[in-house]
Formats: sequence, C-alpha cells, structure tokens
Amino acid sequence: MQELFAYEDITDYSHLISPYTFVGVKNVGWLNLKSDFQKGELRSSLLRKLKDVARQDEIFQPTVEPGRGFPFCEVCGPVKICNSGGELIRDAELWIPYEDIIFASPVLILHYMEVHHYLPPAEYIDAIIGIDISQPFDAGKAYRDRLASSGWFHRPR
Ligand SMILES: [Zn+2]
Repeated sequence: MQELFAYEDITDYSHLISPYTFVGVKNVGWLNLKSDFQKGELRSSLLRKLKDVARQDEIFQPTVEPGRGFPFCEVCGPVKICNSGGELIRDAELWIPYEDIIFASPVLILHYMEVHHYLPPAEYIDAIIGIDISQPFDAGKAYRDRLASSGWFHRPR
C-alpha cells in the first residue's frame, strides 16, 4: 500500500518534516480524492504550460527528489504523466516559484487537474501563467536550503 499524504491547499509545507515547516513554501494539490476538493474547468493552455514547466532542463529545475517509480493515484493506480516533451515524469515534487513564495505539489497535480478536474487555488494558476522557464530555478537547492534552516537537522532524537 502506498501511504497517502493529504494537506490543505496553501498551508505551510511540512511533508515528511513535521512538526517543522519550510518558511515560504505552501502546499498545493496534496489531495485526498475521497474527500471534497475544488473542481472546475481549466483552460488546456494552462495544463500545457504546466507540462512545459515539468520538462526540467539545466536552467529551470522544478522537481524535488525524483523517485524511480511513477506517480500513484489512489483512484486510478499507477499513472503515466508526460511532460510537454513526451517524456514520462517520475514521481517527485513539483516546486513552482511565485513572487516570494514557492508552491510545492506532488507531480500528481497534473493528473488531478487533467483527469479529476481539480481546480487549484487562483494564486497557483497565476504562478503557472506567469512563470518564465528561461529564468534559473533549482528546486532541489531551494529544498536543501530550507531543510537546513528548518531545525530538522537539530531535532530531538
Ligand atoms: Zn486518478
């Protein structure tokens, strides 16, 4: 069984580090599909843009901790999600910078939007529309920096 992690949208990121949180990193799209979530129609251009964002090149690297496996939807089972280059996306987190914060989502957010009609918060949609993937971004580094300053390494054992 895969463990399901569900967090309310726009809450502080604490995935696997609770009770610590990352300053300025907000959850989006960590759904429990069996409970209520916001649904709505999305423009197909928005999904296309997010699949562009998920391509990951040397300049723009939005994924954190890519795993070896593929994403797993609690309703559909293992899902194959392609980026706009037609490459399968491995299970990971997708971090999207927006003004002075970062939105952290499971890559499943693409599947939730496309198949389950999940409507992310307006700020997240804004972030996708406005993102410039020619600007350098290193989500892995952003993650490590925040982990270092979160108190996690000094937690009581
Ligand atoms: Zn599904």
